[in-house]
Amino acid sequence: MAGIKEAKYIWMNGEFVPWKEAKIHVLTHALHYASSVFEGIRCYKTKKGSFVFRLKDHIKRLFDSAKIYRMEIPYSFDEILVACKRTVIENGLEECYIRPLVFRGYHSLGVNPLDCPVEVVIAVWEWGKYLGPEALEKGVDVMVSSWTRIAPNTVPPLAKASGNYANGQLIKMEAILYGFSEGIALDSMGFVSEGSGENIFAVKDGVIYTPFLDACILPGITRDTVIKLAREAGYEVREVMLPREFLYIADEVFFTGTAAEITPIKSIDKMIIGKGERGPVTKKLQEMFFSYIKGEVPDKYGWLEPLK
Ligand code: PMP
Repeated sequence: MAGIKEAKYIWMNGEFVPWKEAKIHVLTHALHYASSVFEGIRCYKTKKGSFVFRLKDHIKRLFDSAKIYRMEIPYSFDEILVACKRTVIENGLEECYIRPLVFRGYHSLGVNPLDCPVEVVIAVWEWGKYLGPEALEKGVDVMVSSWTRIAPNTVPPLAKASGNYANGQLIKMEAILYGFSEGIALDSMGFVSEGSGENIFAVKDGVIYTPFLDACILPGITRDTVIKLAREAGYEVREVMLPREFLYIADEVFFTGTAAEITPIKSIDKMIIGKGERGPVTKKLQEMFFSYIKGEVPDKYGWLEPLK
């Protein structure tokens, strides 16, 4: 896999630092205990200029994640919002991924993080199709993971915290090393939860199903977008507990996420889903989603945050 495409500057605690100089001490608390929360956001280039998709919702989730971990972000909501946009502009990018990270810095190395400073960095870089160049059209082959998703009241799934991705990495590595693009984790009850970095939807007999928050999912912003767009298009969307085998017999299954956007799934555990290609509902939702983010339809939900 290609390495990160470096940009010029990283916003570090209020200042722009050259990419290669954006460094921290090896005894930073977050490095040892995953005491950090973050966001993944996309900025899209459109005919009307660049827009950051649902920036306010992402920053809201960042502050929520920090609250769960009792971290006080030393900047206001608006300061982070402006800093995200300025980082894109400063780097001269028109379309990119935006990664704000809030972490406990260098001070002490006991488990107790409360005295460690809370630091904030924002990086941006160009990032293509997360699950491969053909994924959006052709779909991906995935497996149900042998790893269970983080359980309620353990590592809280509503926080987008770095610690969650210890579980995510196990799911992802297993899938990749077994020759799949992604893994689907089941929750601790055995119901469908989500991918290592995506929410999941299934379509059966024209109805769209997706796990509810009780399946230990991250409340995905793309998930919310797709639910709204699908209802707008007249589909019934049910948030339910999904048994694993429901995926096998679904007509269509797809992932949603900022990085993955809307990616069709063509097989699960080597079982062909539907016709083994992108289905009509997935295609329709992709069309609605991409025309929205490209600014081709009116921004009725106020999701397009102008970069400038
Ligand atoms: N679940 C997990 C575990 C994720 O990491 C992501 C990516 N942030 C998602 C779901 C999708 O969330 P969003 O649509 O907000 O990117």
